[in-house]
Amino acid sequence: GLDAAEKLARVLGANISEETVHAVEGVDIAIRQGEVLGLVGESGCGKSTLGRLLAGLLPLTEGTLLWQGKDVASLSRSEALEMRLAVQVIFQDPMSSLNPRKRVVDLVGEAPRVHGLVRAGEVDDYVAELLEKVGLDPSYRKRYPHQFSGGQRQRIGIARALAVKPRMIVCDESVSALDVSIQAQVINLFMDLREELGLTYLFISHDLSVVKHISDRVAIMYLGRVVETAPADAFFAAPNHPYTAALLRELPSVKERRRAFTPIRGEIPSPLNPPSGCAFHPRCPRIFTPCAQARPALEPIADGHLSACHLNAAASAPVTAGGSA
Ligand code: SF4
Ligand code: MG
Repeated sequence: GLDAAEKLARVLGANISEETVHAVEGVDIAIRQGEVLGLVGESGCGKSTLGRLLAGLLPLTEGTLLWQGKDVASLSRSEALEMRLAVQVIFQDPMSSLNPRKRVVDLVGEAPRVHGLVRAGEVDDYVAELLEKVGLDPSYRKRYPHQFSGGQRQRIGIARALAVKPRMIVCDESVSALDVSIQAQVINLFMDLREELGLTYLFISHDLSVVKHISDRVAIMYLGRVVETAPADAFFAAPNHPYTAALLRELPSVKERRRAFTPIRGEIPSPLNPPSGCAFHPRCPRIFTPCAQARPALEPIADGHLSACHLNAAASAPVTAGGSA
């Protein structure tokens, strides 16, 4: 049988392109060069799967993925490798999956050496420079992963990603495990690197407050589908989707002021067996007649602002009773 990630991949159509948004079935998501797209949802919603698809770590079984306007399925071997290097993922603790007996110089320097980005004799200097770039002492390259704090390990993970000269970084809960003050430092580093290197970010988090200050655009996912996406300003000024409203009520600053607010009610349903119609309907406080029957399409409600909720069609439907003069 298919595991959850594979199943989600089947219902996703991902679309990454430099300039344009092309509609595809399922998830329609475009990331423009140089922007930060904040992708938010609860665990199991498919946001990590989407990130892995974009980074070529999972095969796309359905839908279309465009890289610089080109269908990834039609890339030559060398173009596919180029894309794999150009899109790097940084996980919650990227060092945890690496050989603990290797020194930082080898962990960071291996991929660029293997791919011919640096000669063997220059790896040491190359890694020293990368460590400086991420705010670490270059002498740390002689040390082992266990000798570092969580924040330092994350910086080493960033250096490792940068080592292959990526154009895009997928941050998958990259700061979620860090203390708030360390979180802010690492986010600042991401934004400095964006300026310096012209990087594009897909910033995946379950926490809207983390993406709020850094995103140019925001996309909200629920059970494998994007339910709302908008430029960040418009998104936070006028959120549309009832699920978004529920996520916004969860923000710590708001929660402190309005403790009486209940969290999003109900369990997250299984993505393998999503509810009929609008997948959010069992948890939605605004559910009405069509919600359990028909799935709402992701439709524009304002410039660059799309939402998938029947309330929007209901609000804009012509009044049929009474007639007009
Ligand atoms: Fe709620 Fe219905 Fe909108 Fe879904 S379509 S979010 S159930 S109001
Ligand atoms: Mg995840």
